[in-house]
Amino acid sequence: MGVRSRKGEPHPCPSPEEERGHLAIPEMLVPPQPFPGFSPSRRRLLQAAGISLGAIATGTAGALTAATRPSQSSRRSEPESKLILLGTAGGPTPKTDRAAPANAIVVGDDIYVIDCGNGVARQMVKAGLDLGRIRAVFITHQHSDHNADYGNLLLLAWATDLATPVDTYGPPPLKQMTELFLEMDAYDIGIREQDEGRPPLAPLIRPHEITRGGPVMHAANVKVTAARVQHPPVAPAFAYRFDCPDRSIVFSGDTRPSENLVELARGADILVHEVIDLHAIDQVVKYEAVATRLRAHLEAAHTPMSEVGQIATRAGVKTLVLNHFVPGTPPIPDQVWYDAVKPHFKGRVVIGRDLMVL
Ligand SMILES: [Zn+2]
Ligand SMILES: [Zn+2]
Repeated sequence: MGVRSRKGEPHPCPSPEEERGHLAIPEMLVPPQPFPGFSPSRRRLLQAAGISLGAIATGTAGALTAATRPSQSSRRSEPESKLILLGTAGGPTPKTDRAAPANAIVVGDDIYVIDCGNGVARQMVKAGLDLGRIRAVFITHQHSDHNADYGNLLLLAWATDLATPVDTYGPPPLKQMTELFLEMDAYDIGIREQDEGRPPLAPLIRPHEITRGGPVMHAANVKVTAARVQHPPVAPAFAYRFDCPDRSIVFSGDTRPSENLVELARGADILVHEVIDLHAIDQVVKYEAVATRLRAHLEAAHTPMSEVGQIATRAGVKTLVLNHFVPGTPPIPDQVWYDAVKPHFKGRVVIGRDLMVL
């Protein structure tokens, strides 16, 4: 399934010149048209229930047109991958201008979700993604900004139209988190199974705990590999590499500068890397009650913006996408991030934004 821009065409990746332009005029930050992957069976079900499709499809006139149009990927023999940045904030506190950490890769009809920060399900709907097509979920590490909506995403997808198994991967205690979530929402799940005739949810969720780097998953259209990164005191924490038919995409997760990540990202097309501005942190923590400890954690567990470009250069990636911006409040201008990173990396630098499609 494709993700489309407002004009109905696949969203173009920006040239370096366009990137500079987008820093000043954020044209490419326009969210894609929702609902390209809306399934006919789902539509029939809702119509039978007397529910307005227009209301659900965000009320935009173009949404149904997009929904009824066959997707480009269905006409291609080898699917093209799409990377969607769903949430580009960092840290557990809600932000006004960026959503919590989450990303999606779409290959053919399958959606792979990387991290489940608060609001991930809604961000996916805003991006035009069909929750029923989630194939697998990957949690980089068990910090709440990355896992707060792990259970909610699966529950809300199931309450939408998910009826096929979802494999979930992440560090312990992923299995316990899955069990406890199902237990916590057992009443609602039971009601919907009986009242709405939905399939049992529990058998659809297949959690896999990973404790070391190496191969994670090999599906028809994607191979996923993990590398252990350093994000003390949270351990283990992982970066993930997705080798798709057309390109490779690597997510750093949260990490301080990591040799394992450099190896994992070797020669990748896209590296989505976290970033921190320590100078801005110094300004922010002046007003925090736990300033000293917080500053120490941030410095030990994250990657300064002065080093991200060097990591991308050493890994030999083509495009570096900055993500997980810390601090998020007050927001730091895109140009500041760009100017700190670009001198160290000759490739394309993209300042990540929510709902950006690459
Ligand atoms: Zn984080
Ligand atoms: Zn973290």
